Amino acid sequence: MGEIWIKEAERLGGGSIGGAMDSPNAPGRVVWHTTESGHGDASFTNVGKYLTSVASEPHILYDPTTDRLGQYGPLNQSARALKNDGVTRTNRTGKVCIQVEVLARAATPFTGYWKPGPNFKALMRAIRSWGVPDAWPAGGCAPGASRNRTTWATKGGHYGHCHVPGNDHWDPGNISTSAILKAAPGGGTVSGGSSTPAVSRATVTINGLKYGYGATGAHVTAVGKALVAQGCSAYAEGPGPNWTDADTKSYQKWQIKCGYSGSDADGVPGEASLKKLMGTLPGLAGSGPATKPPAKIAVPTVDLSNLVAAARRDPGLKQGGTTHPADVKVVEAALKTEGLLSATYAADGSFGSTTVTAYAAWQRKCGYTGSAADGIPGKASLEKLGAKRGFKVKA
Ligand SMILES: [Zn+2]
Repeated sequence: MGEIWIKEAERLGGGSIGGAMDSPNAPGRVVWHTTESGHGDASFTNVGKYLTSVASEPHILYDPTTDRLGQYGPLNQSARALKNDGVTRTNRTGKVCIQVEVLARAATPFTGYWKPGPNFKALMRAIRSWGVPDAWPAGGCAPGASRNRTTWATKGGHYGHCHVPGNDHWDPGNISTSAILKAAPGGGTVSGGSSTPAVSRATVTINGLKYGYGATGAHVTAVGKALVAQGCSAYAEGPGPNWTDADTKSYQKWQIKCGYSGSDADGVPGEASLKKLMGTLPGLAGSGPATKPPAKIAVPTVDLSNLVAAARRDPGLKQGGTTHPADVKVVEAALKTEGLLSATYAADGSFGSTTVTAYAAWQRKCGYTGSAADGIPGKASLEKLGAKRGFKVKA
């Protein structure tokens, strides 16, 4: 028995879309589709609901640009994105017939620009868990692909909708069939069920210091603290000197905040994102041991008068026509980590009415009431927030 629900996937719809397979003794297979839509979270939501509304759910919805993975139904039952071939129910052919809708268009093959990450690996792991071989028995997906009935009925592996007999759709387009297999755990070598954790456990050495799962030292704590200060926390406790999956997940939030996606946002530090986070690239001073702390830990400083000017929108205090977005962003991130400011407003750098309301909630949390909790930052409440969330206050 293979994987039925992929633990890395978010659940979509009601959780039941098909039924038992008609030919469970035939080998397992995968069918790749494209949704003929754009990608991104809005498409994921809208197309996701649309497929349910027209009762054409695949098992899997996948965004090739964000590595987002959703699952509608159990892999050991049928999906319903295929037409029947006469009386043959193609959705129910094989031990499994795992159908994947990729948020893309057939005319622009998604393997040309995609960024498969840990979730794609999880999908391929689940596919292999059913004994589906790393093979394309009907060949490539270029126009004119074969819809051979015998191949479909008897061979396990990967198919496009363009290969399924009795169907007339040509998706997923001329994708690179080898790229699909290469993005699997182990780079496409047939491994019969190798497993990669959803959180990357790769390590990297930057400027003489080790980062990633299992790395230890004060530099690990310093990175963790800097991540918390940036509002990038997946920590239940800590951060501490031992790099755990929580550090990787927190670092991944930072990478996403920096604009990275897919496998570039796997939570394993790179030099550019690390330098941006720490202000300077931590390194060994002289030839000391790898556990020696970095010489300087960059902690953001928030200027109280800038912040008050931004919150009051006082034109006399504006500098250069700005309302001090750098100072505001640090405080917004801290308010978000406190659970007082939604992610929608947490990085806009504008101390507008929503941020004022969030700061007032922080003041009340500190015990202030009435006009002392008006949402305009004061020194004591700001220093308290900074001490908790990792920034200094210049008053
Ligand atoms: Zn299709």
